Amino acid sequence: MSEDAVALKIKIKALIVFRAVFITLLAGSFHLFIEYEKSQYVQALYYLTVTLYILTVIYSLLLVKIRNLVAFAYTQLVLDVIFEIILIYTTGGIDSWFSFTLILTVISSIIILNKKAGYIIATCSSILYGILVNLQFHQVLPMTSDIVTEEKEYLYKLFVHIISFYLTAYLSGYLSSRLEKTVQKLEEKDIDLRDLEVFNREVVESLPSGIFTTDIKGNVLIFNRTAEKITGIKKDSIIGRSIDLLIPYFKFPFFEGRKEDIIVVKGVQKIIGLGISTLKGADESPKGYIGIFQDLTQIKKLEAGMKQKEKMAAIGELASNIAHEIRNPLASLKGSIEMLKEDSVPKNYKERLMEIALNEMERLDRIISDFLTYSRPAHPEFKIFDLHRLLDETLELLKNVEQNKGHVFIKKNYQGNIEVNADPQKMRQVFWNLGLNALEAMPEGGELVVATRNAGDVIEISFKDSGIGINKENVEKIFYPFFTTKEHGTGLGLAIAYRIVEEHKGMIKVDSSPGAGTVFEIILPRTDGKE
Ligand code: ADP
Ligand code: MG
Repeated sequence: MSEDAVALKIKIKALIVFRAVFITLLAGSFHLFIEYEKSQYVQALYYLTVTLYILTVIYSLLLVKIRNLVAFAYTQLVLDVIFEIILIYTTGGIDSWFSFTLILTVISSIIILNKKAGYIIATCSSILYGILVNLQFHQVLPMTSDIVTEEKEYLYKLFVHIISFYLTAYLSGYLSSRLEKTVQKLEEKDIDLRDLEVFNREVVESLPSGIFTTDIKGNVLIFNRTAEKITGIKKDSIIGRSIDLLIPYFKFPFFEGRKEDIIVVKGVQKIIGLGISTLKGADESPKGYIGIFQDLTQIKKLEAGMKQKEKMAAIGELASNIAHEIRNPLASLKGSIEMLKEDSVPKNYKERLMEIALNEMERLDRIISDFLTYSRPAHPEFKIFDLHRLLDETLELLKNVEQNKGHVFIKKNYQGNIEVNADPQKMRQVFWNLGLNALEAMPEGGELVVATRNAGDVIEISFKDSGIGINKENVEKIFYPFFTTKEHGTGLGLAIAYRIVEEHKGMIKVDSSPGAGTVFEIILPRTDGKE
């Protein structure tokens, strides 16, 4: 049965009930208020009431069986009009108050069927009412009241009645069509809303990220397709249940923010990035959580591949630098030895050549051992020691190196007593490398200021020289292994210093202006080397 038919059936049912109530009230009021016992028509009224009751029962029984509901409704309405005309005739004809019942039927026809039915019933009522009034006027039917009325008044009453039937049909029709339109609009809106809801759901489902939402207790409300795909868990098995029971890696309670996690799906490891935010209600109170996660496995693999490539490139560059550094001393070694082979070389010249060869060998040895220090650093052995004593010892040695030809003045600017926890041998090497560079930057003499500062969480040690400085372009490269601007430099001093400071979880910074000097600053955290 269609929706319309169901609605019509309900309306017909209402009509039957309404009619039964109306008859009951009417019959009751006759007994209570009007002395129709005296009237000659009491019999007629009695039969009318009984007939209508019987009809009500018949209608009710038929309602279940009847297929053509529209015809059924018309039959009832037309029969109602006929009974109403009889009622009107019995209660005084043209003078009866009960002409209003015809108007009720016109309204009912519009409510139950439509505007057209309203006009049909109005016409039907007008014709029957007209006939009744005419028959009475021409005294074909006996008068039921004693009041005698003029022809003019007859016509006037008839006219008013017919007008009121049609006017009722028109007004009720207008109102009901307005109502219908409003209902239709509401229904459309409802459909739009439903469409929007479906659309929203589709959006969430189709997103390329895994999404879940939970209530405040962690019970899953939404779990989209991508979430199913990433976790390998079916939506139906998780909705309404606690998220961490099923997916232990989404540990509850949640904390807002992003994290990465490794999950195992069917024996395969996956790296996922998960972001959690709180779901807030209109009043800003937390209602639950939203989790958005992605499978980062592929991206991480690519990243690892890139890192590997970079590493290989760096190693290649380092190897070529080493080869280059070794080739120079080897070339002069080879030259010296070849010349030594010649018999014609004078003896004192031979001694000079030998000395060159030995020097070059020494240089080779130094490059290799420096490089080994850099590439295979020994694990730092942390010890608490007096920082200033270590600096003093290093600076004392530096004073006497041959690079200190310009008699550089070394100034100490120590702050109090500082104990550090570090590897003293390694720190000595750092200070030595920085000190030596400073001396080499001041061949004509100058001043080296070594300062220390205890800054609570960290200790700062700086080496400030008044040497040649470093230009902008080179500042970027000075910590690279084998970067040197010196004829006999190895370019490993700062690389080694950098690595050692890094091993101590510290930092090394440089500030330089060409011609004015350079400051190297080491910042050491108060650490014992453990995390
Ligand atoms: P090397 O001393 O063997 O050249 P380093 O690694 O010690 O190697 O230094 C790298 C380069 O950094 C030096 O060649 C030099 O150009 C620059 N440099 C380092 N310290 C200073 C400084 N105090 N003043 C000027 N330049 C410096
Ligand atoms: Mg150096």
